[in-house]
Amino acid sequence: MTGPAHRAEIVVDVAAIRHNVRVLKDLVSADGPVALMVVVKADGYGHGMVESAAAAREAGADWLGVATLEEALALRAAGDHGPLLCWLSAPGDDFAAAVAAGVEVTAYTVAELDEVAAVGGAHGEDGARVQLKVDTGLSRGGSPRAQWRDLFAAAAAHERAGRIRVTGVWSHLAASDEPAHPANDAQEAAFREALALAADAGLDPDVTHLANSAAALLRPSSHFDLVRCGIATYGLDPAPGVSPRVGLRPAMTVRARLLMSKPIAAGDGVSYGHTWVADRDTTVGVVPVGYGEGIPRAASNSASVWVEDSRRPVRGRVCMDQLVVDLHGELPPPGTEVLVLGPGDRGEPTAQDWAEAADTISYEIVTRLGGRMVRRHVDSDADPDTEGTAP
Ligand SMILES: *Cc1c(COP(=O)(O)O)cnc(C)c1O
Repeated sequence: MTGPAHRAEIVVDVAAIRHNVRVLKDLVSADGPVALMVVVKADGYGHGMVESAAAAREAGADWLGVATLEEALALRAAGDHGPLLCWLSAPGDDFAAAVAAGVEVTAYTVAELDEVAAVGGAHGEDGARVQLKVDTGLSRGGSPRAQWRDLFAAAAAHERAGRIRVTGVWSHLAASDEPAHPANDAQEAAFREALALAADAGLDPDVTHLANSAAALLRPSSHFDLVRCGIATYGLDPAPGVSPRVGLRPAMTVRARLLMSKPIAAGDGVSYGHTWVADRDTTVGVVPVGYGEGIPRAASNSASVWVEDSRRPVRGRVCMDQLVVDLHGELPPPGTEVLVLGPGDRGEPTAQDWAEAADTISYEIVTRLGGRMVRRHVDSDADPDTEGTAP
């Protein structure tokens, strides 16, 4: 393997994304057809929205999902024309642009539904394609239970008038990463009630969906017609130990070049505030990434990186542009490859390791990474010599 071409870079293996999509599709369809929506919001969880979306479609993703309307329109502008849902509208959003682009939007309230219907009436036979989100217990977005009847009645009226077509009814789980949490059963039961009310109102949606990655992997009863997978697509774990067990592969590697290495003496303090003081003579290495690249400062004195076949602990505080690691007496030359994180095949720390070091989740680690780092996409299937993540 050659070192990174740049000071620090994010390398995303699209072959790993394709592999994960195939694994997830097979897994959820084991007991009958369930569609797979791959969630590529927030720049594909830091992996690149457009490239991740293309890899997902290539591997058979039936749908793509994003949060905002802007993300959906960016996918269309990049040439994606498949089924696409967005679910987080802000006051003043341009539903007309979404409807014209064939994006399915989500309504939480009658007011939102009226706005979509107003543009849908001017839009061909079926009008705007809308999905309805019900709150079954997350108490975040979605229609509260007391308003379900009104929402469904309004939707049915708009549908009869040809202004909209209700293509989906869906909800989102609060604790799917904790399979034994009582909220899972309660939300599933509430969702079934909502679906019954929607049918009573005369709605006949194409898809009903509740599960994210954790539920897709751990809770077949939550699959309904479609599952929405984000984190598992990128090969990371939605719940402890699940993704490796089913053979998902982390798609992201972060590499840097060592800036310098040097000896320090017992008693020397390292980095701002001297929160680590050498208890013996040792050597340290300077790695040119910091919180300006999205490396969490909360991982000061707890994360590690991979240099010359060993894990090297971060010593002292993570700074804006750099961090310092303990090289245990070795003095690798400047330019030596540093693996900040990767799939873990060689022993390098993973996004999950960084999450534990920073007291957060791997979602936040990969989504925040960026800043001044260059991001490249490689395809380890097409070119086995790339520094991809294929075992
Ligand atoms: C982000 C998101 C998902 C994906 O969740 P993962 O845990 O990453 O699979 C699914 N549904 C909704 C509504 C989301 O916001």
